[in-house]
Amino acid sequence: MFDPALAAAAHGHITQVDTFTDLYRAHYEAHTTVAETFRDFTLGLGVAEACDGEIVAFDGKAWRVPADGYPVSAEPSLGLPFAVVAQGGMPIDTPVPPGSTMDDITTLVADVVTAGDLAQPTEHLVAAVRIDGVFTDVVLRSEHRQEPPYPPLPDVLSREVRFEFPAWEGTLVGFRFPDAQDGVVIPGLHLHGLSSDRNSGGHCHTFTVAHAILTVWLDDVVVTLPHEGLAEQVRARLGDNGV
Ligand SMILES: [Zn+2]
Repeated sequence: MFDPALAAAAHGHITQVDTFTDLYRAHYEAHTTVAETFRDFTLGLGVAEACDGEIVAFDGKAWRVPADGYPVSAEPSLGLPFAVVAQGGMPIDTPVPPGSTMDDITTLVADVVTAGDLAQPTEHLVAAVRIDGVFTDVVLRSEHRQEPPYPPLPDVLSREVRFEFPAWEGTLVGFRFPDAQDGVVIPGLHLHGLSSDRNSGGHCHTFTVAHAILTVWLDDVVVTLPHEGLAEQVRARLGDNGV
């Protein structure tokens, strides 16, 4: 029987602050704060003001991983130029075959999304993703704090700091967006990690699963555009409009 309350609970929201294009074009000024963004959230990720570290958030807590690679608690007042956060939604747990790579996880998430028996599967092409487990060949990264005038993101990332771990245990959280190169979202699977011992973390480049559980939340998306001249809030129902 159709249960409106259950349907509403299943319909989580993913909110993204600012477009990827803006970040790409060196807008590293804060548009929001950690406290404002990570409220009643399921999981999230972001970048700190001035590119001063990668943000990873889950289990009610947000962390910042600066260029030295050691995670610190993200201050509530810390500014964020870019963040994506999931709220609500209904988790679907899926075991992950050992040996799975990031590409395999992308396929697994797609399988979960298309198998979702929710009424309108085309609305659910965006998913929040969490992977808990033990991994091999993990490569994470952060970047150095920038000073104005800010260089474009490719310049910053050309000097990124990589952290490589033959064996790594922890949690990866993030989002699976459509593959469209529309500049609004970061296409594909975007994950940030934090180790179980809280001694490492960052934006995730690659990993191989030793053993892990994948949790997927099916969601729709709101993109918030904070700049003057742009609409205050654009509701981007990714998948509906083909982006
Ligand atoms: Zn990232």
